[in-house]
Amino acid sequence: FLMAYEPAKRLSRMRVSIEAGMVGVRMMYQLLDMPLTLVEAPDARELTVGPGEVTLENVSFEYVGGASVIDDMSLTFEAGKTTALVGPSGGGKSTILNLLLRLYDPVSGAVRIDGSDIRDATFTSLRQKIAFVGQDTFLFSNTVMANLRVARPDASDEDVYEAARVAYAHDFIEKLSKGYMTPIGENGAFLSGGQRQRLSITRAVLRRAPILLLDEATSALDSQSEAYIRDALEQVSEGVTTIVIAHRLATVMNADKICYLEAGRVTEQGTLQELLAMNGAFKRLYDVQFRNA
Ligand code: ADP
Ligand code: MG
Repeated sequence: FLMAYEPAKRLSRMRVSIEAGMVGVRMMYQLLDMPLTLVEAPDARELTVGPGEVTLENVSFEYVGGASVIDDMSLTFEAGKTTALVGPSGGGKSTILNLLLRLYDPVSGAVRIDGSDIRDATFTSLRQKIAFVGQDTFLFSNTVMANLRVARPDASDEDVYEAARVAYAHDFIEKLSKGYMTPIGENGAFLSGGQRQRLSITRAVLRRAPILLLDEATSALDSQSEAYIRDALEQVSEGVTTIVIAHRLATVMNADKICYLEAGRVTEQGTLQELLAMNGAFKRLYDVQFRNA
């Protein structure tokens, strides 16, 4: 029932035409969080340096030819805090991440980072601000090291090891036949889903971006993998403005704020205790979906 995340779709379309040489690889990686259809404003500026506060200001959005998906939404994602987006499928959660990544522009209203409209920002400076960990980890036919270093081409080996330790990936990488120099085949077929996700998280750590977007996997990971990933994400999101599409109880519990989205509107928001006390839609979802999680 979950739609594949848009950049992954773009990527798989692009893959056929791009060789896995370093230039192509860098290009592909940029596609993960960069728009293809939108153009940079001719007078685009660097995003200001700031704590990474994200605001939606009366944002409305619809996909071309579609119905309204985001309906006059105003929302602040506090700098350094973790906000969980929850709610029924189709409510607009992934679309919010698409708008932040500037894969699309709002039909009206504005998306701001530290007060600046992201439409006025250079793509490079926007990309530097945001790390994205989605449900698919894109891996190309090269070594583990090369796959990680795309996140920050000037990273030293030591930087990569350090990031992998934070993401609980270092130990399993070291146990591969050639460690970091192990070639991984097209999309890392021999790695488990949890291992691939930890590589994706390692990339996010390497990026050192002040804003982290997470589209949590729903696919059932084994409980050991899930525990590792939860710990890794907790580390990465420390002090980072984190917006997570939450499917897990642990994520909802750890969030500073929860927004319940339905049909393009935030109908309930607050802390876990506040939302439970409202005894509304979130409480019903919580009882049904999370009770046995
Ligand atoms: P959620 O992440 O909460 O499940 P989405 O943001 O993915 O919701 O989807 C919100 C609505 O937008 C849904 O009705 C979905 O069908 C539609 N939608 C999502 N992506 C696209 C797209 N690329 N093109 C057209 N419609 C889309
Ligand atoms: Mg979604």
